[in-house]
Amino acid sequence: MDGTAIIVAAGAGERLEAGTPKAFVELAGEPLVVHAARAFARAQSIAEIVVVVPAHCDADRVAGWLRDAGLPDAVLCPGGETRQESVSRGLESCGAGDGVVAVHDAARPLVTPRLIDRTVAALMPPWDAVAPGLAVTDTLKLVDTTRNSVLRTVDRRGVWTVQTPQVFSRVTLARVHARVASAADAATDDLSLVERAGGRVRLIEGERSNVKVTYPDDLAHAAALLAGGAGRDAR
Ligand code: C5P
Repeated sequence: MDGTAIIVAAGAGERLEAGTPKAFVELAGEPLVVHAARAFARAQSIAEIVVVVPAHCDADRVAGWLRDAGLPDAVLCPGGETRQESVSRGLESCGAGDGVVAVHDAARPLVTPRLIDRTVAALMPPWDAVAPGLAVTDTLKLVDTTRNSVLRTVDRRGVWTVQTPQVFSRVTLARVHARVASAADAATDDLSLVERAGGRVRLIEGERSNVKVTYPDDLAHAAALLAGGAGRDAR
C-alpha cells in the first residue's frame, strides 16, 4: 500500500537525562529512532518514511544510522519546538501522495509491523482517525497537585491510554493541524486535534509491549521486552 509514516524524533527527552535527544538513545546497540523506522519499513501498509529530527542535530549522522540499518530511503526533516510543530513539519516533507499518514513517536521503539498494519487497516468510514490503546488497569485518582491531596476517585471503566501510531487520511491530518493557531493550543497527540475539530476517533486494541520510553527505567524495561522477543513481527 501507499501509506506514509511520520516518525517524530525531535524531542529533547529531558526526563530521560541521557544528555542526547531521546530518540538517539541506544536500545540494544541501536538508537530508538532506528528501531521504530525499521518496523515501518517492514509494514506492508507503508511506502514512505519521514523522520523528524531535532533542528540543530547532525542530520548526516542520523542518515548514516538509517543507511546502516538498511533504511536509506527515509526522508529527514527538522522538527519544531513542540511535538505538534514537529508533526506539521513532517507533513510538509511528505511526498505528493494523498493516502494514509501514520504518525509515530520514536520514543516507542517496539512498535510492530503487525500493529502498524492493523491500525492502518482500521481507518475506514465513518472514522477520521484510529490509534491503538489499552484499557487502564490501575485505580485512578484526581489529585490537587499543590499538596497531592486526592480530590476523588475516577471511574476507570471506559478509560484507555493511547499509543502511536495514530492514523489519518493526509487531508484530515493537514486540516486539523492548520486549525492550530498557536503553541498554546499544543496537544500531546494528534487524535486530540481531530477530537477538537469534531472528528470521529476510534481506538483499537494496542500491544502491551509498545511501551513509551520516558524515564531511565523505561529503557531497561524496553530492553527486557526486546530480549524477550517484543518488537519482532508476530505474523
Ligand atoms: O515528550 P514526549 O515523550 O511526549 O514526545 C513524544 C515524541 O514526540 C518523541 O518521540 C519526541 O521525540 C517527539 N517530539 C518531537 N518534537 C518536539 C517534542 C517531541 O518530535 N518538539
